[in-house]
Amino acid sequence: MKLIFLGPPGAGKGTQAAGVSAHLRVPHISTGDMFRSAISNGTPTGLEAKRYMDAGQLVPDSVVIDMVRERLAMDDCANGYLLDGFPRTVEQAEALDGISAPDAVVEINVPDERLLARLTGRRVCQKCSGTYHISKLTDEKVCPVCGGALIQRDDDKPETIAKRLQVYHDQTSPLIGYYQAQDKLRVIDVASLATVDGDSRPEDVFKAILASLE
Ligand code: AMP
Repeated sequence: MKLIFLGPPGAGKGTQAAGVSAHLRVPHISTGDMFRSAISNGTPTGLEAKRYMDAGQLVPDSVVIDMVRERLAMDDCANGYLLDGFPRTVEQAEALDGISAPDAVVEINVPDERLLARLTGRRVCQKCSGTYHISKLTDEKVCPVCGGALIQRDDDKPETIAKRLQVYHDQTSPLIGYYQAQDKLRVIDVASLATVDGDSRPEDVFKAILASLE
């Protein structure tokens, strides 16, 4: 199956993509993770991407599209893929349709006010890329799964978050209409899954995603 996860930063795309990709046995491809790894390896793509990422802006379409084209040509994508964070513009979606069109697009819809609390409290493991919220951690500095160091992403600082949300609404949300017109869109309304503390449980979102794909 060829699947896209669409949604604003902090919607839980990465967390859900990890579980759903394992369930469907397709590779989880996160363009954000690919850029972060390129940055830590000091590659030319990483150097170029970093200045856009630090500013909360999108990396130019041509750079991302070339990177994804190469990735989708790899053997492990023979049975499909789960793309997380790509496409983010209509130009990227059109390019993907030319490379390997998706079967379905899952939009994870979370209200902006929830996203801010999620993103400012988000910590990422430098070793295994696991993502956690400080409210669920006993030690904010150590990954509970692999023991790696937990850090706050540079682009999860409040000033950059506002810019990223604006970029999502301006440049990425038009994709909702784009995929609706192709009859591929499945909407997961996270607010409707909220428990008493006002937020949804990851396992409930996971079940809703699988149900939407049946
Ligand atoms: P993410 O981890 O998906 O939140 O991505 C982090 C940052 O990487 C984004 O804010 C962008 O600067 C960059 N990025 C990731 N994916 C894309 C994409 N498909 N198009 C443009 N920039 C991207």
